[in-house]
Amino acid sequence: KSTPTNLSRMLEKRLKTVGPTSVLFYQEPLHIVRGEGVWLYDDSGNRYLDVYNNVPSVGHCHPKIVEAVCRQMAELNIHTRYLHGAIHEYIERLLDTMPSKLNRMVMTCTGSESNDMALRLARHWTKNHGVIVTEAAYHGNTSAVTEISPSSLKTSEPADHVFVIPVSEMPQAPDEAKTWFLDKVREGIQTLNDRRYGCAALIVDTIFSSDGVIADPAGFLKPSVDFLQSKGSLFIADEVQPGFGRTGDHMWGFARHDIAPDIVTMGKPMGNGFPAAGIVANDRLFASFNDEVGYFNTFGGSTAAVAAGSAVLDVIEEENLIANSKEVGLYLKNRLTDLAHKYEEVGAVRGAGLFVGLDFIDPSSSGTPDPAKTSKVINALRQNGVLIGAAGKYGNTLKIRPPLCFDNSHADFFLNQMERAITETR
Ligand code: PMP
Repeated sequence: KSTPTNLSRMLEKRLKTVGPTSVLFYQEPLHIVRGEGVWLYDDSGNRYLDVYNNVPSVGHCHPKIVEAVCRQMAELNIHTRYLHGAIHEYIERLLDTMPSKLNRMVMTCTGSESNDMALRLARHWTKNHGVIVTEAAYHGNTSAVTEISPSSLKTSEPADHVFVIPVSEMPQAPDEAKTWFLDKVREGIQTLNDRRYGCAALIVDTIFSSDGVIADPAGFLKPSVDFLQSKGSLFIADEVQPGFGRTGDHMWGFARHDIAPDIVTMGKPMGNGFPAAGIVANDRLFASFNDEVGYFNTFGGSTAAVAAGSAVLDVIEEENLIANSKEVGLYLKNRLTDLAHKYEEVGAVRGAGLFVGLDFIDPSSSGTPDPAKTSKVINALRQNGVLIGAAGKYGNTLKIRPPLCFDNSHADFFLNQMERAITETR
């Protein structure tokens, strides 16, 4: 049982072992002991609706994934240095969901590793070093990838070889958004050329999760990507967040923009919690890299990771999770938009499928972002049995991103608790 005394003892022990680098959620941290579907349970048996976690994307502890991983672990779990048919089948299946020029895949363990390798491929191919990113993006935690993750830089400015697009200033109207983003990419290429780095790549999380969820207008990236590619730079679609059906229309977020990336990176939901991630590109890109640099990833593409990945694809299909994401996501977005009309502290609602962002604003100062209110609502929701987080340049966007098996009754529970939290925190 969790009593206040043993919670504080646990916190003390955490500080002495894990230390302060790994930050806990909530003013009153949670001790979660079990998960099932969209629900998490603490050590007192309290149930929480998980509206935060897109890693166990087909549901916490989904029996099919658990069974597939356990079965494989009991038989063989080994690296990719021996032939194993399952990885070929898995990769074939995954590549079938991509544009045809994306015809090879290397498996890794994390999104960070995939983006790190994407940078290496792009730099190797273009012989350029500069990268264009968006202003609050997060692409991972290696040293190279931290440099292109403005949201990780607490005190320093982005490095000289990084050009940052202030996407929070992008106009909403479709034509204006397209032109605005294109102008920024043009300026980015010019700036990186002037600084003598050249532009290796534009990397974008295609649902802009850390930037506060920018789903619309769908297609606004197309002119920019066409232009970038015509200049010989590469487009890296970071699908770690939007991939595997999250946005409701397609398997991949980039498909909403009608573009063919040069490199696609993925992770998080790929193994439903078992570490599985990957990078997809054209064979010529990999070949040119391999001529000079080797790549091996001990745990990437292990037989157990492939078992997890294959089971995830099965469940997405069997349970129609992409269609569910679209349907329930639309219901959720519409009901949240009703809340925006009802409560003056709720600003814009944006999203695609089961990835929705909702801004809290200060109504007394003509809509200034209100991260303090957002934080209060997040903590109130935690007390009311809902787990959720924030994103965006100002930290005032509620990031609504539940497992894809979320249904309308879960949405209703969430919406009721949201109304309660909004009024309780006034
Ligand atoms: N890209 C994006 C868009 C992410 O959100 C994350 C993780 N939050 C990463 C990359 C890094 O993935 P990982 O934590 O698996 O290294």
